[in-house]
Amino acid sequence: MKISCWLALIVVFLFQMACTDHKSEIPEKGVSYQLNKRRKTTIDSIGYNIQLDIPREKSESIKGIETISFNLNALDSALVLDFNSDSTHIISVQSEGEEIEFEVANQHIVIGPDGLKKGRNTLTIGFIAGNLSLNRSDEYLYTLFVPDRASTCFPLFDQPNLKATYALTLSVPDGWEAVSNGSLKSKTSRSGKCVFQFLETKPISSYLFAFAAGKFSKTEKTVEGRPMTMYYRETDTAKVSRNKKEIFDLHAKSLSWLEDYTGISYPFEKFDFVLIPSFQYGGMEHPGSVFYNESALFLDENASVNEKMARASVIAHESAHMWFGDLVTMDWFNDVWLKEVFANFMAAKIVHPSFPGINHELRFLLAHYPHAYEVDRTAGTNPVLQDLGNLKNAGTLYGAIIYMKAPIIMRQLERKIGTKLMRESLAEYLKTYAYQNARWDDLIRIIDNKTPLDIADWSRVWVKTPGMPEYALSTETNGKYIQKRDSVSNRIWQQPVAFKDITLGQKHFHFPNPDGTGYGYFQMDSASTSYFFTNYNKKGDSIFSKPVFRGAMLVNVWEGFLRGDGPDASALLSDFLKVLPKEKDPLLTDYLLGRVQTIWWSFLSDENRDRYQSAIEKGIWSLLNGTPDKGMKKSYFRTFKRVAMSDDAYQKMESLWNKTLVLNDLALSEDDRISLAYELAVRAKGDEKTILQMQLDSTKNPDRKARMQFVIPSLSQDEGKRDAFFESLKKPENREKEAWVLDGLSNLHHPLRSASAIKYLQPSLEMLQEIQLTGDIFFPTRWTNATFSGHSSRAATDVANKFLAEHPDYPYFLKNKVLQAIDLPQRAARLKR
Ligand SMILES: [Zn+2]
Repeated sequence: MKISCWLALIVVFLFQMACTDHKSEIPEKGVSYQLNKRRKTTIDSIGYNIQLDIPREKSESIKGIETISFNLNALDSALVLDFNSDSTHIISVQSEGEEIEFEVANQHIVIGPDGLKKGRNTLTIGFIAGNLSLNRSDEYLYTLFVPDRASTCFPLFDQPNLKATYALTLSVPDGWEAVSNGSLKSKTSRSGKCVFQFLETKPISSYLFAFAAGKFSKTEKTVEGRPMTMYYRETDTAKVSRNKKEIFDLHAKSLSWLEDYTGISYPFEKFDFVLIPSFQYGGMEHPGSVFYNESALFLDENASVNEKMARASVIAHESAHMWFGDLVTMDWFNDVWLKEVFANFMAAKIVHPSFPGINHELRFLLAHYPHAYEVDRTAGTNPVLQDLGNLKNAGTLYGAIIYMKAPIIMRQLERKIGTKLMRESLAEYLKTYAYQNARWDDLIRIIDNKTPLDIADWSRVWVKTPGMPEYALSTETNGKYIQKRDSVSNRIWQQPVAFKDITLGQKHFHFPNPDGTGYGYFQMDSASTSYFFTNYNKKGDSIFSKPVFRGAMLVNVWEGFLRGDGPDASALLSDFLKVLPKEKDPLLTDYLLGRVQTIWWSFLSDENRDRYQSAIEKGIWSLLNGTPDKGMKKSYFRTFKRVAMSDDAYQKMESLWNKTLVLNDLALSEDDRISLAYELAVRAKGDEKTILQMQLDSTKNPDRKARMQFVIPSLSQDEGKRDAFFESLKKPENREKEAWVLDGLSNLHHPLRSASAIKYLQPSLEMLQEIQLTGDIFFPTRWTNATFSGHSSRAATDVANKFLAEHPDYPYFLKNKVLQAIDLPQRAARLKR
């Protein structure tokens, strides 16, 4: 921003004037690290008593009144509350019943020391709740306050280390349910409304406070002496009853396991969960009231092993948060990764006994390493532990490094120090900081005190610096693998890495990282790669029959391919298609099919796609029909509808969609049919309007219907209509349903339409900063990824690189997100054959 000289002088003068007066000490927007520190040292023992009156119409505003009581131990500066909404939404501020002066600016309410006293203070604030994080639909609403969004709804001290008790009273339309962190104290009727009064919570961080209200069905069940209530919106009663028992059982198992592991009983009053359609995440760990994405828990009849495992994992993950994150919380959001890594780490331990038939080493490998590399190999990667100057940027910390790399690191740590010491350290950490806050370094200190190893140095390389090590065969060391020079610095990555060598006469084959536990890029030579594919899943006790080995080698080959070290795209595609029939493991099948789709749309030239069209369609179709495994059948079906292009394949899809063709053991859900209708529409081979209209008419679930209505214009064959759809996304109100927007974006940028979608790239990047402000925490990443995922041309990635070059001051986090999103398209543009 540029300001002319005389104006700058006035601004400086006014600023100096302002600083002489407590009332005008207006902090910057958001919660800066300094404001966080100052409040942490001067304020404690906070309690909120909040009353909200929720009208039936979502267009009407929600009136609220709250009482905040707290201890204040210094009067040398103004008190700053956070309220990130329209300043006219503050109606009154009283201290001990007396109106006091206040100022509203920069998303804060600032109260001078005159209106306050040392010791206990009680403020009463009348306000209109901001809607930004209330996710209001016609029939329900729910909060999502992570990381700093509680202040968009009501005034508070919105930082994780000022834990507080919350006593909530919700007045809702008759016939609505309501649920929050606290237990229900009373439910009464008052002039056509229903009043839910909840008991005061234990001390919790502001991002964990939550409530939901609306037309929800509910089911109560007590498992192992633990009463739980499930709230949901799903209207398919068969689906609900098919899934219900398993959902309750998985929760009960997870909670008992955690009590046993930590030696600490479930630390909050009650345990309920709310299943929300199109919820922004898989789940959110509000203590006593976990929110889930409904589709992650209510599975279809043909659910694959992956889906069942994902469900068990998300339940275990959110349950683990009750201890790791909710009971002990990070001090500042730069340590947000810590609660995520603990939750994932515990989830992995918890789900094992529930799935004895699953190869858990393989699952861990495929669930973490490929996703971590997707970010860690890019120019936009970041360390696990990042700096965070202001809470308003906390959302940008999230991503694969936190969710995927950090669990790998935690597993390495456990192997380094042993499971016993790990468990003892974690128990000490939880007991020491219960209902309080702690940092990563606090845990490292606990561990360092118990072991002679230098854990702090290990932490510096793995946690505090970015990137992945690379290992290559070296002629200098007699054909042994060595760690290549590190691009960041000469870091020593303390990790044991295994190598498997096979010698046949004069020939030597090298298979680095055969157990899949090492982290990094392990380069393979072409002879070893082709030997691997030739012997893929060879019977007997050869290493090629071991799923973990196959998974680890496939990951090596894929990383090599992306670096231009491996086979070219056509060769790799035919290798993958050749080994697919030999692969009976559903996790590896899914991994292979995912790579097949990526090669297909991003790395093949149009000519080669034409050349292989018939082979891929026939191959996948025959596997789809031939496999007895229902889950794998579904995986093949999903791949088929992604890659199918010929007239014959189109007809197969259309017949599956309109039910004139029914395949044994392949039950298609409403979601499957919707997705088939979308795939048919984008191929522009038939009457897409009729197909979409018929699908819309036959869709029963009202939430899915509404989502379809929103998405349909993005599928239009008329480019003008697609342009109009994109244009509509510039208004924040049209981006509220983020999952819907992402559906629309992936249609706009479908590889078949990517040429016409290049014009959306620049404006999409221009919107990114605003999207970060108005959207939820994962939305900037998802927006950017959905925007670039269908592209594989220089023209597309040039737009991004030019944009970044023209904006040298672009926020560091967002620049990284863009660099991450264009990594694959850039490699595709370079390697396309
Ligand atoms: Zn989590």
